[in-house]
Amino acid sequence: MYIDSHCHIHLRDLKNRQDEVLRNMAANKVSHALCVTISLEDFPQVKALAEKHEHLHGTVGVHPGPKNVKEPDVETLVKLSMHPKIVAIGETGLDYHHVEPRQKWQMDRFRTHIAASRACGKPLIIHTRKAADDTIQMLREEGAGLDKGGFGGIMHCFSESGKIARAALDMGFYISFSGVLTYPGSKDLRSVARLIPLDRILIETDSPYLSPQAYRGKTNEPAYVIEVAKQLAMLKGMPVERIARHTSENYFRLFGIENNAVSS
Ligand SMILES: [Zn+2]
Ligand SMILES: [Zn+2]
Repeated sequence: MYIDSHCHIHLRDLKNRQDEVLRNMAANKVSHALCVTISLEDFPQVKALAEKHEHLHGTVGVHPGPKNVKEPDVETLVKLSMHPKIVAIGETGLDYHHVEPRQKWQMDRFRTHIAASRACGKPLIIHTRKAADDTIQMLREEGAGLDKGGFGGIMHCFSESGKIARAALDMGFYISFSGVLTYPGSKDLRSVARLIPLDRILIETDSPYLSPQAYRGKTNEPAYVIEVAKQLAMLKGMPVERIARHTSENYFRLFGIENNAVSS
């Protein structure tokens, strides 16, 4: 079985065909998925999904990209995270692609999430784009890592250098790869993926975005996470079942989720 550690099935057309999306997951042996919140406005939809389906879990947080959304505070994030199916804080981080670098509001928003993670004891889902050095520095300064009494988390849709991966691993973070790993232009990223220890790797779709190469041009969905697993298996020279087993075990360990799915 496979697990999609980061998806947004409450967005775009995925939300209108949720039954089909769940059926496709089952057909591809994708046993669980983490539904990631991007704003406080969309949190109720994510929470509803997690409440309705045993194999779906959710997060609470505000994406670093959009400025004009409800700004979270620590108290609110902690309160909303106190739900048995809400297992992480995020997605949060720094994004210098959509926003000018080092905007105070974006850095403050990131700090708020790290403080919330430390307060509620749940891991962080980290988004970083064109801002890797600052992201690592802030995680260190704010004590997000296991080494500083934090609760770690996931570097989601990882597409950075080996040096950044090492820094994140040293703080106890997991590295999650998306369909980007399957793109012809991702040669450097594939070299990085080879080096990540099996007990710290996760796989994700970030659906509806970033369809793997085999489905480029189509809307991405959790079922397609198997493409990422296949790519990793090729890179590491091992059967895909082994990648499936390790990435699933990592997911259950990180989020403290009981593994009661049928194993394969
Ligand atoms: Zn993201
Ligand atoms: Zn995302």
